[in-house]
Amino acid sequence: MVFLDIKENIGYISVDANIGVIKSDKKCILIDAGGSKKDGQEIVRLLDEENLSPSSVIITHGHWDHFYGICEIKKIFPELKVYSSSIEKSFIENPYLEFYSYFSSTSPLKMPDVPIGFKGITVDGTIDDGIIEIDGESIEIIPFSGHSPLGIGILYKGVLFSGDCLYSVHSLNMFKMPFYTDIENQFKDLDRLSNYEIDYCLPSHGLPIRGTKDFKNALIENRKKLVSLERLILELIKEKKSEEQLKKEIAEKLSIKFDFTKYIYVTITTKAFLHYLYNAGKADFEIEDGILFWKN
Ligand SMILES: [Zn+2]
Repeated sequence: MVFLDIKENIGYISVDANIGVIKSDKKCILIDAGGSKKDGQEIVRLLDEENLSPSSVIITHGHWDHFYGICEIKKIFPELKVYSSSIEKSFIENPYLEFYSYFSSTSPLKMPDVPIGFKGITVDGTIDDGIIEIDGESIEIIPFSGHSPLGIGILYKGVLFSGDCLYSVHSLNMFKMPFYTDIENQFKDLDRLSNYEIDYCLPSHGLPIRGTKDFKNALIENRKKLVSLERLILELIKEKKSEEQLKKEIAEKLSIKFDFTKYIYVTITTKAFLHYLYNAGKADFEIEDGILFWKN
């Protein structure tokens, strides 16, 4: 857990996730705020060491591991302003919606380390797209909808804080099957990013991507990952399969050893691919003897 410089007045804090820091004098804007009370306390401690107090926090998207830490930061800095996109605001103010959606709109199963009782954080302002000014700093907001309904990337002085929309090549290899909820939009997110000159990108998880060449390469590798997962699923449903059978075979092919959390993540991403393939006319399903089978 350390404070690292990126360039000029930009740095980041590496806790379980990466927290962006844009400094202006003794104030700063945070990008995300960690996924635990401990993360929040560490952020406060590290900012104090740097002689900084946070005036605002921009939340990239409404997954609890990006904003749960705010509870602790607000105890010390109650004036902290919270920003997010208009759609993700609903999830940030009602984290139950995220857990509820993981379980097909039913009361969620208890998962280890997931704060199901978390009551949420009030969002003070919404920012969906375009160039905005926060605390005197001009920041570009880039909307993303492949990982969550309306996540945002934050672009400032050539540095992109990409949330969970884009991963380093190292992280892609580690995750094997990243968390996507909308494949068509994930392709569009990567297309949109290819129009930007980015010289440093900090994803919320894993290592930073340094330099325009590595950034362009990361875009290519993120796209390759989508294409290879699409091909794998199309190949596996050449013979009709139930979703459970399909997930079992995906895990075998990608050497994913299921625990409950990984099972839930693979379930969501697999559904996202199947729905995308069906909507694109590349896959179909049928119900036979009470079981829904996918096929192409
Ligand atoms: Zn996320």
